[in-house]
Order: sequence, then C-alpha cells, then structure tokens
Amino acid sequence: MAQPCAPWLLAANWKMNMDHLQTLEFIRELSVLLPRGEGEGGGAEMAIFPPFTSLRTAQVFSASYGVPLSLGAQDVSPHSSGAFTGEVSASMLERLGCRYVLVGHSESRKNHHETKEELVGKAKNSIASRMTPILCVGEKEKGGEGIGEACRQAEEVFCDLSPEERAKVIVSYEPVWAIGSSTTASPERISDAACALKADLLEKFGASPRILYGGSVNEGNIESLKGLGLGGFLVGRASLRISF
Ligand code: PEP
Repeated sequence: MAQPCAPWLLAANWKMNMDHLQTLEFIRELSVLLPRGEGEGGGAEMAIFPPFTSLRTAQVFSASYGVPLSLGAQDVSPHSSGAFTGEVSASMLERLGCRYVLVGHSESRKNHHETKEELVGKAKNSIASRMTPILCVGEKEKGGEGIGEACRQAEEVFCDLSPEERAKVIVSYEPVWAIGSSTTASPERISDAACALKADLLEKFGASPRILYGGSVNEGNIESLKGLGLGGFLVGRASLRISF
C-alpha cells in the first residue's frame, strides 16, 4: 500500500472481499514488503477494514508479523447487546482491536436502509467503546446541489452527538457516483466539499473533524489528490492490491 505523508490516514475498505485465509496471506505479503517497524513514526497511518470474519486473523497476524496496521470494521450495531441476530456490537469490535468503524457507508445506507437514529446509535456506541467512527457522506448524483446533500448527512448525525462525541468523529466525503466507478471527483470538487463540510460543521456545532475523501482512489490518481488539505483517503477496490 502506498504511504501518504503525515498525518494522513489511509483507510482500506475491503468490502465483502478477503476471507480470513486471504487476509492472512495479504498480511504475510505486506510484512515482506514493509519490514518490521517501517511506517511507524512517519505519522501516516494505514488501517484495513476487512469483513467481520477476517478481523481476528488481521488482529493476530498483523501483531505477530509486526506489520503496523490499524484495524477498522465496516459496520457496527446501533444496539449494545441482546436479541439482534446477525449484528455485531461495538464492544465486540473493540475487543478485536478495532480502532475505527465505518458509519453510513453509501453501500450500507442503500442495502440496509439505515435511519438517522441508527447512524447516530452506531456513532455513539463506537465512541463509547473507544473507537473512532468514520462517518461517510456524499451526494448520490453528479452535479446538482451535491455538496449540500453531503453537509445535511453530516449534520443529521452531528446534531444528536454531544460536543465530546463530535470531537471524535472523522468525516469521509464519498460522492456515491464516484464509488466503484472509473473516475474520482475532481480535485476542485473534493476541495470545495471538504471546505464546505468543515465550514458547516464548525458554524453549526463548533466541530472541526478530519475530512477524508473516498471514491475510486487508486495508485494512479492518489498523487493528484494530495495537497488538498485532506486528512487522508478511504480506498475501496484498489486497496485489495498489495501493490497499492
Ligand atoms: C469505498 O468503498 O468507500 C470506496 C471509495 O470504494 P472505491 O475506492 O472502490 O470507489
């Protein structure tokens, strides 16, 4: 994986790819490419978001191979425990060493019809379990009033968080039309969206979250997106390549 300059976060969303054996192989290969200790101290942080079934493997083998990877989960339950078949709680993820949780990824929003209350519950539970929610926001259609849609998605979660909770959230600007497509949003668009999100959340909630960008970032275009004042990138398909 390419390492951007400090203090960026490179978050690798593996989606529903990489079973635990493939995860083990990926980490083994990474340990060869990235000798023990390299990557630490530079300030850039690499985090992988494998499927739930691969988290334990990633936790155990990144530690045993000495690969400096942080761990994140692709989703979390808005509930703490109990009769919620198929769900995984924040405290379970914390015990697996997760540091981050994706909240409101556009694929989860679409496939699970997540409500505002569920998104708030997911963010709150993650924070209560000492993890950082990465709140994904972004417009569905290219053009139009897009950036306003992203701001509204961020506002609807931020408005139900306490000031302390708001200070712990990372926001990822992910225009839905750019996810899984052949092009990223333009640098101007990304920069405008990041500025709009920052200004909006500062004005309405006094919050200054770190802003990431996600949407078809790969090894060929990441250079052109550096220097936009972002806090890092959320990378999907390209992060499955060890060469990224
Ligand atoms: C994502 O899943 O958040 C994402 C940005 O995917 P991709 O990089 O494949 O567009």
